[in-house]
Order: sequence, then structure tokens, then C-alpha cells
Amino acid sequence: MLKTYSFPQFDYVPSAEQRAGTVVRHPVVVVGAGPIGLTTAIDFAARGIPVVVLDDNNTVSVGSRAVCYAKRPLEIWDRLGCAAPMIDKGIVWNLGKVFRDRELVYQFDLLPEEDHKIPAFINLQQYYLEEIIIDHARTYGGKVDLRWKHRVTGLTDQGDHVVLTVDTPDGPFTLEADWVIACDGANSGLRALLHRDFKGRAFQDRFLIADVVMKADFPTERWFWFNPPFHRNQSVLLHKQAADVWRIDFQLGWDADPEEEKKPERVIPRLKAMLGEDTDFELEWVSVYQFACRRMEAFRHGRVFFAGDSAHQVSPFGARGANTGVQDVDNLSWKLKLVMDGLAPERLLDTYDEERVFAADDNLLNSTRSTDFITPKSAVSRAFRDAVLDLARDHTFARPLVNSGRLSRPTPYGTSSLNTPDEDAFAGAMTPGTNAADAPITRDGAPGWLLGELGDGFVALVADTDPGVAAIDVDGIPCRVVVVGRDIADAKGRLAERYDLKPGTTYLFRPDQYVAARWRAFDETRLRAAVNRAVAR
Ligand SMILES: Cc1cc2nc3c(=O)[nH]c(=O)nc-3n(C[C@H](O)[C@H](O)[C@H](O)COP(=O)(O)OP(=O)(O)OC[C@H]3O[C@@H](n4cnc5c(N)ncnc54)[C@H](O)[C@@H]3O)c2cc1C
Repeated sequence: MLKTYSFPQFDYVPSAEQRAGTVVRHPVVVVGAGPIGLTTAIDFAARGIPVVVLDDNNTVSVGSRAVCYAKRPLEIWDRLGCAAPMIDKGIVWNLGKVFRDRELVYQFDLLPEEDHKIPAFINLQQYYLEEIIIDHARTYGGKVDLRWKHRVTGLTDQGDHVVLTVDTPDGPFTLEADWVIACDGANSGLRALLHRDFKGRAFQDRFLIADVVMKADFPTERWFWFNPPFHRNQSVLLHKQAADVWRIDFQLGWDADPEEEKKPERVIPRLKAMLGEDTDFELEWVSVYQFACRRMEAFRHGRVFFAGDSAHQVSPFGARGANTGVQDVDNLSWKLKLVMDGLAPERLLDTYDEERVFAADDNLLNSTRSTDFITPKSAVSRAFRDAVLDLARDHTFARPLVNSGRLSRPTPYGTSSLNTPDEDAFAGAMTPGTNAADAPITRDGAPGWLLGELGDGFVALVADTDPGVAAIDVDGIPCRVVVVGRDIADAKGRLAERYDLKPGTTYLFRPDQYVAARWRAFDETRLRAAVNRAVAR
């Protein structure tokens, strides 16, 4: 039991099909109601697809796990209508500081630019986040069928559907699905049922997580120490979370005994050394973890898709676990919807694998580099790390080399087969395969945001030239045409700045708000070809 949080207990309810003993085929079954399974459920429901979610537990994430949620997943949750309560409940932060001993060696501002709706990061305990998504799932009028205490124990892909065996308190039953999304976490049973494994590295180090309740006047920033006076030769990370809970991670080394280190008589002296003898705090949660950077070789296996920790696992430095898992879902949901509606060929689903494996490798690379910097495993790595920290004190060029965890950012799908390569010249970052940067706009004089305009379908954004159409039907796939100067106004000039807009410039955005193509002039033929390419037709 935590001091600041009581875990909800969700009822196990046997379904009608289970009671009747009939086997029912569902369009989509999601296995696992962690942050990724829950996000999958609401994204599919938002697209009109009914989803059954099976979870072997009957509560939200227990203990202290994800804390930091990045701008892009928050934008996705905003599209789905549940980011506001997360941001309200969470702690908004942009600034990170890195100390060596007592000295500040480096600081970074994750969102130095103004005029974004969503902050760079929030901190929020994973259990609050999951509860917010579960509450939101209830607003889909039965489209999300959450079934607690349902453990999937068997899976057979029959080619045109999947058969799942599910264990419940009333015994096992069978159900079928057209498509299965495996969001059953790092120890995925579905991965094992398909005889697949992770490839990658497990790191030989241990970290103590201590969540403490205290009223403290540290600023709401991420603070990271190398070799602080209160924890010599190791690192420490401090984050503020909701409800006056502070998360402190102490690096312990591989030799530490996890059971011993969790005891209050070991934890409290460490905390007092850091916070001062006179600081009042109470222990909320203590655990010891080790971590790995690894992934499955492929994320699509026939009719089964792996998303989140079941597909890839990263170390917590950089907060890339849940953040990247949410982006898996964002990538998959629109593609599967188009395939289910018969509007795109099944090979579009292979691009989930193409794009998200690419993103996973980027996350794994960043996460591995951070981990190597924080926990150097050889004399050479340690010498490099210490030299960087020495130099960073006096030389700005060395500061970006200080790696206390490069925080999660979306990976551009620069080489994706769905992109239409540029033929015209553009300045700036919005190349095909990049997620859309937000910008303030107005519509009918009312303030809004570009991402709100993009929504969850194809959109052609045209600058200051009216092509005379509001939408184009590309063989059944609608593409809305939004004209700057006709439908929306570039309220502060940020759109023009961020997208290098000139009269006639046209961007095509995919339903996950990624740039698919762009040109210097509107041309319906080229637009149609780019939509077809973006759906693998
Ligand atoms: C110390 C620590 C700090 C972290 N910090 C961050 C952070 O700051 N930011 C971040 O983005 N990420 C962070 N992470 C990672 C984050 O916690 C995970 O990436 C995230 O929980 C993955 O979500 P998931 O839904 O894929 O899996 P999980 O959260 O593991 O959920 C899996 C669900 O599947 C259920 N399940 C399992 N097997 C079955 C089965 N056979 N049948 C039915 N149900 C099943 C489980 O009960 C569970 O509910 C951190 C992790 C740790 C350990």
C-alpha cells in the first residue's frame, strides 16, 4: 500500500461468450492493459474499431516505473482526448541539470522554443497515467471491452484469424481475433508462444529506486549527479512526481544485494545523506532494478503485432520505454484500420515493422550509449567519461558529450518506403518521414493548433493559394485540404517559419501526423500519387 495512492481493483466479469461457451471472433484483441495496450485500445476505438483487451491482472501498474512522458506521446494522447488530465496531474518540466560532485557541468532545455501546445515533458507516476487512460476508455461507449483477470495462455495463427486460449478465475475459454496486438510487456508470454526471443544486451548494474513523500523546494527540473558527495563513485537521479512524491534513483553497482538494499535501514541513510538529516520524508516505494537494451527481430508475425515492451526493451535513461511504445501504436492503428476497411493492401502492415524497428534501433542506440556513459564497463570507457566531465566544466564544446540520458524524441522515418522524396528545395527540419511540428493557428478567429487541424486522417496543407477544393477522394481514402489564408490563419507566423512555407507550398500529412510528401506548388496528380504511396498501394 502506498501512502499517496490506493490501487483501484477492477472487477473480473465473465463475458457472455465465456458463459455461453461459444467461440466469438473479434476484429482486434489487445493482450495487456499496460500503458501501451490501453493506448492501443483507445486509438482503435477512436477509429471506430471495437477492441477486446485482456489483462491477467486487475489493477494498474504496481510500484515505481515510468515517470517521464515526452511531448510526442502527449501529442498522441491529446489527439485521443486524454492528455489534458495527464498534464494537469503531472509535473511539467523542460530543464535538466547535470552535476559532477557538487558542481553544475551541463544543463539542457528540452523546449527552448515557444508556441507549442504540449510541454517538452511531464512527470507522472505510471499508475496515475494508466488510470487516466482507463477512465477515458470508458467514454467510448463499449467499443473498449476491458476484461480483467484474463490471462492468455495459448495462441495459434490460422492464417486468416488467430485463436487465443484465455485462463480466468472460472477456468479457460477460447476466443478468436482477426488481429492480435501483443502488449504484454517485457516478459511477453505471446512472444514465447510464437517461439520468438529478444536480441540485445542486459547490463550488469543495479539501481535503487526510492520514491519519497516530502515537501521540498528543489525546482521542477531533472537533476542528475555523477559521483556526488552523498553517493561516492556512483550516479543519482532526482525527479519530482505528482502528489509531492519524489523519485530518486541511486546507482548501486552489480555487486549490490537487491534484497539487502531494499531494507529501510539501508535506504534511509542514503536518503538522509542526500536530503539532509533534518528533511522530513516518508518512504513511498523502494525497489531495485537492472535493465536491458534489446528487441525482437520483427514486430509483425502474421496476424500478431508486438508493441511496447513486448517488442523492445530499453534502459530507463532517456525515458524511452512507454514513450516509444505509444508511438508504435500511433504507427499501427491507422494502417490496420485502412487494411481492415479494404482501402490498403496488407503489405502496408509490413511498414509497421519497417518503421518501428527503425525507431527501436534508434532508441536502443541512444539508450545503450547513455547506459555506457553512466555505467562505464571498462577502464577506457571510464577514462573517456571522466575526461568529458572534466572538459565540460570549462569548455562548451564538451557539454553535449555529457550523456546522462538523451531524453526521448520521435525518430524520423527518413528512409521509409512510404515517403515521397523531395523534388523541390526546402529549409528546416520538416523532411518527409518527420512528425509534424505543432504551431499556433486560428480558425474563424478562434485560437487553435496545427496538430488539432491534422487530426487522424490524411491532410494536405496548402499555403496562401486556394486550390478550390476542401477534400480529395483518393480511391476511397479521404484527404482533407486545409488552406492557410482560407481555412486557417498562421496566427504568429510559426507555421511559415517551421515549415518554410511560401505561397503554394503543399505538405501531405499521414494519419499519424507524419510528413509524407511536400512540394512548392499544389498539384492534385502528385498529391494522389503520394497518398497511394503512403498506403503502399
Ligand atoms: C524503473 C523504470 C523506470 C522507467 N521510466 C520510464 C519513463 O520515465 N518513461 C517511459 O516512457 N518509460 C519508462 N519505463 C518503461 C515503462 O515502464 C515501460 O516501457 C512500460 O510499462 C511498457 O508498457 P507496456 O504496456 O508495453 O507493458 P507493461 O506496462 O509491462 O504492461 C503489460 C501488461 O500485460 C499484462 N500481461 C502480461 N502477460 C499477460 C498475459 N499472458 N495475458 C494477459 N495479460 C498479460 C500485464 O499484467 C500488464 O498489465 C521505466 C521502467 C522502469 C522499470
